[in-house]
Amino acid sequence: MEPIIGIDLGTTNSAVSLVQDGKPVMFKDERHLATLPSVVGFAANGQLLVGEAARNQALVAPERTVKSIKRKMGQDIKVRVAERDFSPQEISAIILRTLRERAEAALERTVTKAVITVPAYFREHQREATRLAGELAGLEVVRIINEPTAATLTYEPHSEKNERLLVYDLGGGTFDVSIVQIEKGVIEVLASHGDTQLGGDDFDQLLLDYVCDVFSNTHGVDLRTIPVAHSRMLQAVERAKQQLSSEAVVTIFEEFIAEKDGQPLHFRMDVHRHAYEKLIKSLLQKTINCVDAALADAKLMASGIDRVILVGGSSRTPLVHQMLRDQLQHDPHLEIDPDLCVAMGAAIQGALVAGVDVGSVLIDITPHTLGIQCSGEMRGRMSHKCFSPVIHRNAALPATCSEVYYTAQEGQQAARIHVLQGEHEDVTFNESIGEFMLEGLDTNAGEGSEILVRFDLNLDGMLKVTAIERSTGLETQLTVKNAVSFCYESDRQNAADNLADVFGESPSTKWTQVDPHGAAVSDNTDPMVRNAEELITTARRMIGQAGVEDAEEIRELINRIQVAKSTNDLDALHELSDQLNDLLFYLEDV
Ligand code: AMP
Repeated sequence: MEPIIGIDLGTTNSAVSLVQDGKPVMFKDERHLATLPSVVGFAANGQLLVGEAARNQALVAPERTVKSIKRKMGQDIKVRVAERDFSPQEISAIILRTLRERAEAALERTVTKAVITVPAYFREHQREATRLAGELAGLEVVRIINEPTAATLTYEPHSEKNERLLVYDLGGGTFDVSIVQIEKGVIEVLASHGDTQLGGDDFDQLLLDYVCDVFSNTHGVDLRTIPVAHSRMLQAVERAKQQLSSEAVVTIFEEFIAEKDGQPLHFRMDVHRHAYEKLIKSLLQKTINCVDAALADAKLMASGIDRVILVGGSSRTPLVHQMLRDQLQHDPHLEIDPDLCVAMGAAIQGALVAGVDVGSVLIDITPHTLGIQCSGEMRGRMSHKCFSPVIHRNAALPATCSEVYYTAQEGQQAARIHVLQGEHEDVTFNESIGEFMLEGLDTNAGEGSEILVRFDLNLDGMLKVTAIERSTGLETQLTVKNAVSFCYESDRQNAADNLADVFGESPSTKWTQVDPHGAAVSDNTDPMVRNAEELITTARRMIGQAGVEDAEEIRELINRIQVAKSTNDLDALHELSDQLNDLLFYLEDV
């Protein structure tokens, strides 16, 4: 059967895929990269350059390079490259042909048919221009489909469920959001909004300006005015930006970046994720405004959305996930590579046209959020029972993420790293999966010394937690063997208990803990009640150290908690435990 390849012809990057043995497979280049930068150029000797090579010369030889041609598709214009004129369709055809040849080399046969994706907002003449580009590349374009439809197909190749999805697509140069409806297996885009001038390139520019301003203030040299240094720094900040999606702090180091008074200058700077997030927050707020506009156009509230799907390389930015979570009360899905899911969806469409069987693409994810306990603000009050997520649920495995925390006291000698899984902001309601101490901290470091905590979760569900004191490099690790199956176990238990509740049966045995002597002991107590009991024990211990008024308040709270426990008033129990918790926290500090 003749293969029908799927092509994502993107503004910044493009990709090609084909369904093989029921699954979409990406075709990669000789460096094993699945994406191809959508950049075309000519070298000084006239040789055609497509992809990475063209992209690398873009800053130093702009007159010989063309980027982001997708923005011009359908316009009756010519672009000048190396003193020759090309229509936007011709430039796009060069990219499509490169992708076709990549597929042919891997398949060792000719390919003549393709499905190509376009943004949902593309007009008819822009779709026609895309079809023409395909033909110029030697491809019969069997379908042009919308990018959000392709992304949806990757997640739901033959959904019989009726669902509404929000597809948030943030790439290198463009942003769009679509509300997609699946009804009786038919996928329809209900509304689409976006900004054709917003994406990862803008974040690179903001980060570049930030680090170059610091360098310029220190050394009196503006790296943006030196073409080679500018190009190197742009690549360095893009790399740093991408690393900041999983690392809490990144060091940018570029040796011999410039010269001053005959002396070489090196560039070295640490960038913290929170500093980077401050830079890009207002741009991301614009994307959230578009989300609201798309929902309004589709006449839907956030609660009408069943799933949030992320597309485009920049959608890996953690702040994007956080802002979507806050706005939509949904954990976005990231299990399919956001750079590749549109091309995969196009390949699935190609397979459906060809009548080839397609299976599910879904891969392993973390079903629960993993994080640590820390101090901070919870519901407007200080608490030391805050849950700070490190790897969010729905992240694809393997996953690596790090966060920076700060010591709470001057002269602090050790930090307790308590690892939990769950979704509640209060650790009391999450499940503890291990803890360890980072001991021997630098006691001269003062309050607020940085502790980096890194989580590495592998495909077997093994979680490695590493804590590092940044100033000294002091490091300790903990390995939890079955962090993911542990979660599934908890799910199964919750589901069983839920059903038991529905059928009026007594809940089954909850957590089974292994005691130090090897005997298994079961604990049927509700976690909140268990926590209250622990709290009361701690409070009684602290009464002796407290002043008269505080001691009185502790006694009063203990009595009220006992009453709430005996009447099974869980709301009051939660509220009072919080109050006692805060009071003890305050007493520990003074
Ligand atoms: P696309 O147009 O979908 O290929 O997206 C390209 C953009 O995604 C570029 O600006 C990349 O720098 C950005 N990008 C790729 N990977 C990441 C990442 N891990 N975190 C943040 N941005 C990324």
